[in-house]
Amino acid sequence: MKQTEQSRLYAPKNAAKEASAAYRKKAFAFADEYMAFLDRAKTERDAVKETEAILKKAGYRAYTFGDPLKTGDKIYYINRNHAILAANLCGDLDLGVQIACAHIDSPRIDLKPNPLYEDAGMAFFRTHYYGGLKKYQWPTIPLALHGVICKANGEKVEVCIGENDADPVFCISDLLPHLDHYREKQTLDDGFKGEMLNCVIASIPEKDREKDPIAEAVLSYLEKTYGVCAEDLISAELTLVPAGKARHIGFDSSMIGAYGHDDKVCAYPSLRGMLEAKSKKSTVLVFADKEEIGSDGVTGLSANYLYDFLCELAGAQKVNVRKMLANSLCLSADVAGCFDPTYPEAFEKRNAAFLNCGVAVCKYTGHGGKYSTSDAPAEVVTEFRKILNDKKVFWQTAELGRVDNGGGGTLAKFVAKLNVGVLDAGVPVLSMHAPFEIVSKLDVYAMFEAAKAFFEA
Ligand code: MN
Ligand code: MN
Repeated sequence: MKQTEQSRLYAPKNAAKEASAAYRKKAFAFADEYMAFLDRAKTERDAVKETEAILKKAGYRAYTFGDPLKTGDKIYYINRNHAILAANLCGDLDLGVQIACAHIDSPRIDLKPNPLYEDAGMAFFRTHYYGGLKKYQWPTIPLALHGVICKANGEKVEVCIGENDADPVFCISDLLPHLDHYREKQTLDDGFKGEMLNCVIASIPEKDREKDPIAEAVLSYLEKTYGVCAEDLISAELTLVPAGKARHIGFDSSMIGAYGHDDKVCAYPSLRGMLEAKSKKSTVLVFADKEEIGSDGVTGLSANYLYDFLCELAGAQKVNVRKMLANSLCLSADVAGCFDPTYPEAFEKRNAAFLNCGVAVCKYTGHGGKYSTSDAPAEVVTEFRKILNDKKVFWQTAELGRVDNGGGGTLAKFVAKLNVGVLDAGVPVLSMHAPFEIVSKLDVYAMFEAAKAFFEA
């Protein structure tokens, strides 16, 4: 090629064009393993359990604060069944820790504390949506009920209805188009109010009941099946998530459609990357909860448990925790919005993440003039560039979207608070936060390779 035909402007490599057949085969095999994980890890509680099982198999042991700890230990710590941290104390902590963090909660439809009622011959659950979702996407799709109910006597029962083929599912209704003309003129916000996300759950009344016989029948079912009463639902975490499994997408099966890619599509490859890396430095993995609602609460990353966990590690080698943190580096593994040619106006093409172009590295997220984000120092960005380039990982640079078009945050700013250099990088997702999100298998594999390279650096 003549030199004049080659542009020197920045452009990412496209893995779909440049990766070998052998690489593609590995990526597709990895995708199958990820899909199996995702099917069992729809909620943060489910994800904690699956992650614990994988860590145990890899030789990690459960740890509680104050337990004895020494160099060479592999441990995990579970925060209230919602978040899980793991550490491999293989290196000198003075040199810092390689930390990867991702979140395992996803947008969904939670039940209200007093959810049950009946009207017009049907019983319903009232709901309160969780996270930034587009409400119109959630009616008229099959929903499964996941979660726990904590009884007054201290017992806890687990609920999972709608994931097996023989299970019933639940559904939020929507108005027929014939009678919807008045709503068609409304904005999406006015047309789909949060209080309209009511879920149909039953229609047969209990015999010899005068008042609320259908809702009473539901209570009888819950009592018989789980031994719970109406008041027990107040101390429950029950959530409606899209029912069914992850699917291959496209004639070439090159993509994965599923609920909850954000952010299990970064969490799972990070976990695998940590387990398969030959690390010189000590490594830490953080799977946090509540990211989708701002990381507040005792299981969100604005709480102190990551810092406490890191202090425990520092104690094992009696190193200065502040020195350890200042020398540490964090990969904030979270998804990026994938450029969608149907909505080009939302993106800025030269700084957007494209499907199949690998891990999207975001110097900053935030909104309105880089507000509320960790804008990573250039030195940190280039440290990651070197890690990714040295291992020939497919990666690209990306912003969340066009300036002032909206925005969002990640876990990065909570890690930055600890005086740890941190950079966002993750898998581009089409239809992010929808009940069925799309990612590319080559990008998922690039995430795994990025995490592995990071943990080996
Ligand atoms: Mn996310
Ligand atoms: Mn999200």
